[in-house]
Amino acid sequence: MVFRIFETLVNPLKDEVPTRPPVKLFAFIWHYAKPYRWLLGTMIITSTVIALLEVFAFQRVGVLVDLAANAGSENFLALHGTELALTVLIIALIWPLMSVLDDLILLQGVMGNMAMSIRWRGHRYLLRQSSSFFADDFAGRVATKLMQTALGARETAVKLTNILIWGTVYFGSAFLLFFANDPLLTGPLVLWLITYVITMRYFVPKMAAISERQSEDRSMLTGRIVDAYTNIGTVKLFSTGPAEDAYAREGMQKMLGSVYGQMRLATGLSAILHLINGLLIASTLALGLILWTNGHISLGAVAFAATLSLRLQGISHYFLWEIANLFENIGTTQNGMELLSKPLSIVDKSENSLRIKNGSIVFDDVTFSYGKETSVIGNFDLALQPGEKVGLVGRSGAGKSTLVNLLLRLHDIESGEIRIDDQNIAHVTQDSLRSNIGVVTQDTSLMHRSIRENIAYGRPSATEEEIITAAKKAEAWDFIEGLEDKKSRTGLDAHVGERGVKLSGGQRQRIAIARVILKDAPILIFDEATSALDSEVEAAIQERLDDLMGDKTVIAIAHRLSTIAAMDRLIVLDQGRIVEEGSHNALLAENGLYASLWKRQSGGFIGTAEDAA
Ligand code: ADP
Repeated sequence: MVFRIFETLVNPLKDEVPTRPPVKLFAFIWHYAKPYRWLLGTMIITSTVIALLEVFAFQRVGVLVDLAANAGSENFLALHGTELALTVLIIALIWPLMSVLDDLILLQGVMGNMAMSIRWRGHRYLLRQSSSFFADDFAGRVATKLMQTALGARETAVKLTNILIWGTVYFGSAFLLFFANDPLLTGPLVLWLITYVITMRYFVPKMAAISERQSEDRSMLTGRIVDAYTNIGTVKLFSTGPAEDAYAREGMQKMLGSVYGQMRLATGLSAILHLINGLLIASTLALGLILWTNGHISLGAVAFAATLSLRLQGISHYFLWEIANLFENIGTTQNGMELLSKPLSIVDKSENSLRIKNGSIVFDDVTFSYGKETSVIGNFDLALQPGEKVGLVGRSGAGKSTLVNLLLRLHDIESGEIRIDDQNIAHVTQDSLRSNIGVVTQDTSLMHRSIRENIAYGRPSATEEEIITAAKKAEAWDFIEGLEDKKSRTGLDAHVGERGVKLSGGQRQRIAIARVILKDAPILIFDEATSALDSEVEAAIQERLDDLMGDKTVIAIAHRLSTIAAMDRLIVLDQGRIVEEGSHNALLAENGLYASLWKRQSGGFIGTAEDAA
């Protein structure tokens, strides 16, 4: 009940549009810490009070010793009973209560929630990054960075508001009380504090640097390992076991280097601390007693100073580790911040939604080069009438996939315009653009979820009946009914393995087609949509696809020319330019690139579109 109250003070998974975090450390942390500012502020107060209470407890011990010595054992309770009771009340009740409050805020309110809300907001921001952002990096590395940076930023915020405040108040008030008893008594403590700060100044930056290196090494290693697991098929096929081992070993060795470095620092630091702590305790005790024999201070003050020095020994290790840890987390945060704050390369320039009237598409003088010197698509013009079905043909690398990716605005073009129903696709939201285009590609990877979720990905609001109808239309229902996964889930509930590896290529493609049927978008793109299907299934599906196309505008890419020969118009691409266009028959008559490609595929037999169909 109490837990629940503190756990729900802030909702970590709030549904708001994730914005780009700033790239300056404290601004970055503040960006994510904002919803927690009240909790963090309260923690500053509780940790201050807790530190004061603890030092106060030691001081009371000294005072009570003096009172007891002066009053004698018979009179002590009668004379100073109230003082004793008050001290007991504070130490036994108020101190624990404050600590519990601090823990509730820290552990229930901040720890889990803040890390999760950073992941939530960071993840949703990353999902808006372009495909090239992910093509440039290991998925495993990006994921690790997100997870680590969330912890790093949370720890930095917590340590600054909790540990740092607590430690500073603790050392500060200890010093003041020493001073109040006798300025001379502060001698060892001052020397200790100076050495402590020097030690800190020497070690902390070194530890922060090595931690940052280590966190970089860790994401690199995770990236390498995940890469091998993800491409396990290739690894096995090429029996690259030894090479893979070497790749992983090299990564691990590199990381071991930073681990060793860190451990050496830890031992060196620990040795110095033990030494100066021993000196502090011994000299405080000796000096205290000398001052007492000279009548400068009371026995109670000696007891206070000696016990607090003993306690400082434990705290000094803890505090220094926490500070090193703070800098480590600052390093981790700085390291991940660059990735998490990368500006989105493709942004919505307006809030306008694409409104489809009849589905005409125009490529108007489009140039695009993937940032390379020579353009992949150069001054490209193409207009599709509403409902027109166009086939894109050309050698591998001609630019066919690039063209459809540009239509989907997976990349921004360098010059020219792409318009759908007279609306520039760069001036409508990406969501509205893509929700109006159904795509089936050749390498359909499915989500590691149930078949139902995979099909419903096309339209999350779809009913069970609609999902089944779509599956049937995609010729997928027969095999779905027979599916059973390891956990004995069957049919639509069966899970498909990461990227759908537990299904055959043809089955995956049929799921992808079902998904697009369910989505029912007015524009369709088939990029080698049936390439993974055997001829029989393809023949069965082709009919369904014709059904599905209806009056939609369609762009289809296929290597097997027979599958697109019956389209309204074929566009033949070469090096990003249109070299021929027309119907199948017209192109054969032209006897150009298309005719030669067709000849090769049909074994020299020149047929007509009807023959092909
Ligand atoms: P097609 O689909 O006709 O086989 P693509 O559109 O895939 O051709 O490729 C056209 C050209 O663009 C090729 O030269 C290819 O190397 C290049 N290309 C494709 N994708 C990328 C990318 N992500 N980054 C850089 N160059 C690319």
